[in-house]
Amino acid sequence: MQVVKPKIRGFICTTSHPEGCAAHVQEQIDYVESQTPLTGTPKKVLVIGSSTGYGLASRIVPAFGGGAATMGVFFEKEGTERKPGSAGWYNSVAFEEKAKAKGLYARSFNGDAFATEMKEQVIAAIKEDLGQVDMVIYSLASPRRTDPSNGETYRSVLKPTGDTYTQHTLDTDKGIVEEVSIESATEQEIADTVKVMGGEDWQLWIDAMQEAGVLAEGFRTVAYSYIGPEITWAVYTDGTIGRAKEHLEQTATAMNERFGAQTALVSVNKALVTQASSAIPVVPLYISILYKVMKEKGNHEGTIEQIQRLFSEHYCGPNGPQLDEKGRIRIDDWEMQADVQAAVLEVWNTISTEKLASDTDFVGYQSEFLKLFGFGLPGVDYDAEVETLRPLPC
Ligand code: NAD
Repeated sequence: MQVVKPKIRGFICTTSHPEGCAAHVQEQIDYVESQTPLTGTPKKVLVIGSSTGYGLASRIVPAFGGGAATMGVFFEKEGTERKPGSAGWYNSVAFEEKAKAKGLYARSFNGDAFATEMKEQVIAAIKEDLGQVDMVIYSLASPRRTDPSNGETYRSVLKPTGDTYTQHTLDTDKGIVEEVSIESATEQEIADTVKVMGGEDWQLWIDAMQEAGVLAEGFRTVAYSYIGPEITWAVYTDGTIGRAKEHLEQTATAMNERFGAQTALVSVNKALVTQASSAIPVVPLYISILYKVMKEKGNHEGTIEQIQRLFSEHYCGPNGPQLDEKGRIRIDDWEMQADVQAAVLEVWNTISTEKLASDTDFVGYQSEFLKLFGFGLPGVDYDAEVETLRPLPC
């Protein structure tokens, strides 16, 4: 038992609060349960990258909104009696406890999703418990990947692919707006980022599952992407990560040629505070401005609202998924509205450290960031000692 306080190092928090993470999961469940129940949801869902951010929401919505059985795969650190584990570990423990309390099937796998052994383990569990799954949600965000075919480890970078890029950025630790210059990636860095964050591993999962016969007739699979406004394009859409997302889209097209139209889709989601997005230069400043604008307009959403809409308007909508001209789902539609983007740009052009408090929602950014690690949740006593050893329920 120990008192757990946040310890922030740059853009990560090295501690997490078990009770706070459970409260954060409960908040998301409460939101889903307050919505009109979904009809026509998939009933057996595998979520790869299910412990935090978009993946966690993607596990909560089909389970608590549609009664689905879920399997989750993630790479997290289990807490011990002396040291807290990672937030994704506690989120997953809380998710399983709450799902089981509702009579919902839930099973989780902690380890490297890129490894062949993990795919084999999950496939064996599907055969054993569910027979087949009807939806596979791919929501990994990782800085590295070891390719099982050659044992080599590739690292992703967040860099532009054209000229050196100079833009405002926010040091979220110090609360300072400054200029950042990022040199263009090398061809090798681009290729390595595509290896890590492109569609190759998504394809390997689907291939392995198809060969094993664990994909139900008419199954669906979705992976997530981001586009955003022109001010971030150099480091995102036109950068190394954008190349990887392009590969993700090509992978979806190739899967659809094999399995039929709309089997595999890419959903373009809104920019939100997650462990992955806080590491991208420029993006936290954009998010701080975006949150202020969207909260004022009354159309701000978090991961859970986004994924609820992915299901209610697309997968469970009367006409199925609605696609843009490139065949993608766009739940970033409210973020990309012209009035929202014009208001963001106006602030962007004059932003400075002095105007951070008045012109952005940096306070909201910081509290969302802390919430990712289970801090700042109402009803949690942060001065009390808590048990940090929390196994997944049997
Ligand atoms: P996140 O950091 O919150 O979640 C990443 C998940 O991947 C976690 O569950 C983690 O445990 C898991 N993971 C990482 N490496 C793993 C490994 N080797 N094996 C098993 N699991 C592993 O990230 P997120 O922001 O929710 O991102 C998920 C997806 O959504 C990404 O494709 C990202 O590009 C996309 N997306 C994010 C945003 C955003 O603003 N955050 C916007 C649009 C799209």
